[in-house]
Amino acid sequence: MNLNLAVISGDGIGPEVVREARKVLDRIAEKYGHEIHYTDLLMGGASIDIHGVPLTDETIEIAKSSDAVLMGSIGGNAATSPWYKLPADRRPEAGLLKLRKSLGLFANLRPAILYKELQDACPLRKDISDKGFDMMIMRELTGGLYFGARETKEVDGVMTAIDTLTYNENEIRRIAKRAFDIAGKRRKKVCSVDKANVLDSSRLWRKVVEEVAKEYPEIELTHMLVDNCAMQLVKDPAQFDVILTENMFGDILSDEASMVTGSIGMLASASLNDSKFGLYEPSGGSAPDIAGQNIANPIATILSAAMMLRYSFDLDKEANAIEQAVSQVLAEGYRTGDIMSEGCRRVGTTEMGDLIAERV
Ligand code: NAD
Repeated sequence: MNLNLAVISGDGIGPEVVREARKVLDRIAEKYGHEIHYTDLLMGGASIDIHGVPLTDETIEIAKSSDAVLMGSIGGNAATSPWYKLPADRRPEAGLLKLRKSLGLFANLRPAILYKELQDACPLRKDISDKGFDMMIMRELTGGLYFGARETKEVDGVMTAIDTLTYNENEIRRIAKRAFDIAGKRRKKVCSVDKANVLDSSRLWRKVVEEVAKEYPEIELTHMLVDNCAMQLVKDPAQFDVILTENMFGDILSDEASMVTGSIGMLASASLNDSKFGLYEPSGGSAPDIAGQNIANPIATILSAAMMLRYSFDLDKEANAIEQAVSQVLAEGYRTGDIMSEGCRRVGTTEMGDLIAERV
């Protein structure tokens, strides 16, 4: 297969971790007979330094014409970097928001997996973490409260702020279908999270999700109120396979789920549009505090590349090979500093990439 990838290495640790993901992808291409073409693009601070803006129209066009985008992270230290003296719409993060919007990425996927070898890093009680967990949080990314009309005004002499939460049935249907498709590749369970006891938008959400579920008789659908879900994530995370939810609930729950795994350096993510196209990036930021020292954990980016193979190219066997290689390297006791524990062997970014590529 020919894979035409746009690569945005970005700032901070971005170039270091993306280099390792490419190393692993190259090994996959060699082993399974694929051709990968990479086109390097600038975004964030790296683009400001060259073009004066965090994202150019040309970059957007090239990203659009690729099959998928592999990204590191963008941004710098807000206190010290000159990028943050610029107006908000010219700072590094503005580039990412614009790119997501231009590419129509409406579905955000964040897996939260507890690796047995990293159980010590999990802040949950041992009897809970003993059961392990492997869930996918599927968050709607372009609707809801964050995109509704808002205003602050005086009403009867009192300052009043209004934010609007809007969803239409099409927006709900397309993310629900995506969630059911993805559950079909996993353990075939969708838990839809809403606040249907209070919000109209949640009642519509629940109705549309139930309609979509009829097209997927092999998938089990349950509903859960968001406050209960926040509790269940720390009480019994093993119960979840795919969690499907709207924008703001997903924002909060995906952070909660990722923190119960214990390490930001392990967390992959994907944002998809209504075709096979997606943008794949680690959940963490550009970690300027550790940039350039060869100590960043490249696993989140390597696992994001595995998600890319699975969701943009349907290369499940290849994605599994990467995920198994990561598990094997952890089982053999190799760790970067962020996930180090007693009795393990500390390795740098490059060596971790080498080990995973070798195990593939
Ligand atoms: P961060 O995720 O970059 O760092 C938080 C902590 O986690 C730091 O101590 C860092 O060293 C550590 N960390 C993160 N990734 C790691 C890895 N792979 N291996 C080892 N340790 C890792 O968050 P922050 O410090 O709040 O933000 C730094 C910059 O990143 C900011 O400019 C922020 O805007 C940007 N950011 C970008 C994205 C993105 O590109 N999608 C996301 C979040 C933050």
